[in-house]
Amino acid sequence: MLKVKEIQVPGYERVIEGLDETTGFHCFIAVHNTSLGPAMGGTRIFPYTSTQDALEDALRLAKAMTYKSAMAENGLGGGKSVIMANPHTQKTKQLLYQFAELLNTLEGKYIAAEDMGTTPEDMAIIKEKSPYVAAMRTEKSSGDPSRFTAWGVYRGIQAVCKKLWDDACVRKRTIAIQGLGNVGGKLANMLFWAGADLILCDKDRKVAHDHALLYGAEVVDITEFHKVRCDILAPCAIGGVINADTIPQLHCRAVAGAANNQLREPSDAIRLRERGILYAPDYVINAGGIINAAGEFNPAGYDPKKARNKVNHIYDTLVEIFDRAEKENLSTEQVVDKMTEDKLARGTGKRHHPIHLR
Ligand code: NAD
Repeated sequence: MLKVKEIQVPGYERVIEGLDETTGFHCFIAVHNTSLGPAMGGTRIFPYTSTQDALEDALRLAKAMTYKSAMAENGLGGGKSVIMANPHTQKTKQLLYQFAELLNTLEGKYIAAEDMGTTPEDMAIIKEKSPYVAAMRTEKSSGDPSRFTAWGVYRGIQAVCKKLWDDACVRKRTIAIQGLGNVGGKLANMLFWAGADLILCDKDRKVAHDHALLYGAEVVDITEFHKVRCDILAPCAIGGVINADTIPQLHCRAVAGAANNQLREPSDAIRLRERGILYAPDYVINAGGIINAAGEFNPAGYDPKKARNKVNHIYDTLVEIFDRAEKENLSTEQVVDKMTEDKLARGTGKRHHPIHLR
């Protein structure tokens, strides 16, 4: 039997824990803020080593989603769910149904989507028992988010070029990409055709070499990525790449990539600023996917052209952040924090049409 427990966490609207001792199901759903719209965020299945780790991950990711959606003004709030299980060995239909049961207790305050450890097929199983699932891979849905994420990162890189060289064109700029997966691979393609020179790295060396052949790029080992001499470093694989150890070794003018949580800790933004390296905050530059998914909630239906046009604004948002950071003597992260708090307080970008999920 599923037991649901409310957990009081200051600064969060609702945090619930779902536990079934018989089946071993154990999950947290954190709803950080819904003042601009219902919370949306992925459902992560991961073999956390402790309950505390799982809860902290849910809290951290839910808050990041509030910031990402507020900055994108997509009429959504921030939330996240984490299921404590090994996605390869413990993911059963029963586990996904129990998650759906827990999800239903929030009555639409939180909308779940695919994330690490969940697949489109898993989300379809959850949807059998709960309407509160979106960004499904169906014909009428917004589809693969990564092409919009990649385009948003490309627009963000253009904003960096505008700020640093007063020319948004990436032609002849040297850009190093870490991770050539769904996002990084597409980004490499966009940058190549726009005339950039590429340095590539992937933990799968074959993937890196195959892309290098396509784009006449140089390949670097994963241990050398942060040290490469380039104009812009674009982390598109894992988090924590920018930290107190790597920042002194950077040889770039800017960091602008798709990966979530690129900074190991908030003070890394200040370290980057002290080294004169421009940082495009990750949850601004990589918001293309969630902007596209939010397009599914348009009363007139999803329209890829509208989604693309909205993703284009990532350029303007970043230019504004860069200018404010310079004027106000702050790191770009500090500026985003201020902008987000302001949008939440004023209700900027608040959703006016209710979301109807079936
Ligand atoms: P992916 O799994 O498709 O690709 C990741 C790539 O990085 C793979 O090719 C993998 O081999 C490589 N990789 C993993 N560890 C590496 C390492 N240490 N060094 C070099 N390469 C490494 O993932 P994705 O969907 O392209 O997402 C990439 C990043 O962008 C992730 O941090 C993700 O959270 C973030 N992100 C993705 C989206 C999206 O729409 N997919 C949206 C927002 C943020």
